[in-house]
Amino acid sequence: MTRILVVEDEDDIASVLVDYLRHAGYDTERVADGESALERMVANPPDLTLLDVMLPRLDGMAVLQRARQHTARPVIMLTARIEEVDRLLGLELGADDYVCKPFSPREVVARVRAVLRRSLDGEALPSVPKRLMLDDAHWRATLDGAPLNLTRLEFRLLQVLARQPGRIFSRSQLLDLAYEDTADVTERAVDSHIKNLRRKLAASGPSHDWIRSVYGVGFAFEEPGG
Ligand code: CA
Repeated sequence: MTRILVVEDEDDIASVLVDYLRHAGYDTERVADGESALERMVANPPDLTLLDVMLPRLDGMAVLQRARQHTARPVIMLTARIEEVDRLLGLELGADDYVCKPFSPREVVARVRAVLRRSLDGEALPSVPKRLMLDDAHWRATLDGAPLNLTRLEFRLLQVLARQPGRIFSRSQLLDLAYEDTADVTERAVDSHIKNLRRKLAASGPSHDWIRSVYGVGFAFEEPGG
C-alpha cells in the first residue's frame, strides 16, 4: 500500500488532508513538526511526503534539504507564499511539486496521484538491468554491487536514461526530465554531467559502455548485450 506522510502543524488542515488521502486509498500518517518529519523521512522514507513550509522546530525547507541527502522519494510542498515556489522547486531544494494555501483537498489528492504516477511508473518498468541497481529511496546506485557515488543530478540523469534503454534523449529532453530547475542550466551542463556519469560507470565496470552518445542528437542507455 502506498504510504503518505502529511507534515502539517495546523490540526484542521492536517485532519482534512488525512481524511481525503485515506479515503483515496493511501496509507496516511501525520506528524506536526519538522524534526519528527525528518526522522520519519530518513528512517523509513514514505512513498510521498506532503510537507508544509511553516512548521515548528524545523521549517519545511530545512526538512526537505536534509531529507534529500537520504531519499529521492517525491515531496509536495504546501506553502502560503507564492514567492517561495521558485526556491522550493529549484536545484537547491528540489521539491517535486507544490500546492499553494488555501487549497482544496481534492486538488491536493489530484497532485499526489499525478506525482506518484510519475515516480511509480518508472519503478514498475522492468527495464533497469540487474547489474545496475537504482535505489530511489536513498539516491544510491550500484553497479555489480559496487556503489557509484553519484551526485543527485547524475542519479537523476541515469534514472531517466535507464528507464527506457535504447531510447535516445536529446539534451533538452534530459534537461526537462532530470533537472528540477532548468532556468540556469545550459545544454553544455548536461554534457558535463553525462561525462562524469560515464566516468563513474566506466570505473566500476569498464567492460561495457552504458551511455551511448549519438552525435548531434543526444544520449541513450545501452543494456549489456542489447
Ligand atoms: Ca504551518
